[in-house]
Amino acid sequence: MENKGRFTGSHVLITGAARGIGFEIANHFAREGAMLSIMDYNQELLDRATQALKSLTTAVHPYYADVSNLSMVRDAVAAAEKIQSIDILINNAGIAFETPFLQIDEKEWKQILDINLTGMFFVAQTVCRFMAKRKKGVVVNMGSKNGLAAEFGYAHYNASKAGAILLTKTMALELAHLNIRVNAVCPGYISTPMSMEIDPPGFTENFVKQFIPMNRAGMVGDISPLFLFLAGEESRFITGQIIIADGGQLAGQKPADDLLLKINPG
Ligand code: NAD
Repeated sequence: MENKGRFTGSHVLITGAARGIGFEIANHFAREGAMLSIMDYNQELLDRATQALKSLTTAVHPYYADVSNLSMVRDAVAAAEKIQSIDILINNAGIAFETPFLQIDEKEWKQILDINLTGMFFVAQTVCRFMAKRKKGVVVNMGSKNGLAAEFGYAHYNASKAGAILLTKTMALELAHLNIRVNAVCPGYISTPMSMEIDPPGFTENFVKQFIPMNRAGMVGDISPLFLFLAGEESRFITGQIIIADGGQLAGQKPADDLLLKINPG
């Protein structure tokens, strides 16, 4: 299973890699020859993902850990570092659910902030302490368009992703002199198990029609290449940046069909 790719020899740690976008990122790095450490808090999905990834690479190491649990994170990162020093961290794990602002209770608020923001911080700091000693490393965090423009019903999620973006920029400023680059990807609406669990039937079609200029939902394969770009040599002078991939949603208000026809007849 010898695989000479863009990331041959690199060790990549990916959180939330058992399904959805994280799993696709893991597949993409595996196809490019990377050694993988994958971290997730769903044991069953983690086992299944590990088996699937083994068809692409023998170098895949699963870690059962909740990113919001600092001691689990420290144990998992220490074990991964023992196998080979981590070159690239993909901080992807996250959760989302809808609650109107006036109804968010303390438990829901903490649940989202603990995983999406505090968990990102725990993993990033733990890994970067190793990278700092070596003066070498790359981190790509998972943001969201919701961290840049509010979506109603998601105050807790929006706040967590806005925090992730500023955490990214602060890390970039503090770690650049240690030769560690830190960037983030901000996807728009992507079809994943998460979005399918949240949204009722028919939601996606309506959402796309109303809000996405490119007239389709994003796919996991639209997002994973951006993580490889930000982790790789092509982006060697880029740090503290975000890349938005949302089919044009944040560019402005989507024009109605009749207005588009008037501008571009035929
Ligand atoms: P998903 O639910 O399909 O996959 C998330 C994975 O993360 C799962 O395997 C889950 O078990 C794992 N995970 C969740 N909490 C964890 C924790 N505390 N510790 C360890 N693992 C944990 O979700 P997805 O749609 O692939 O989303 C992945 C990331 O992308 C999230 O951060 C999400 O906020 C972000 N995102 C998603 C969309 C979208 O439309 N799907 C848009 C923008 C950003």
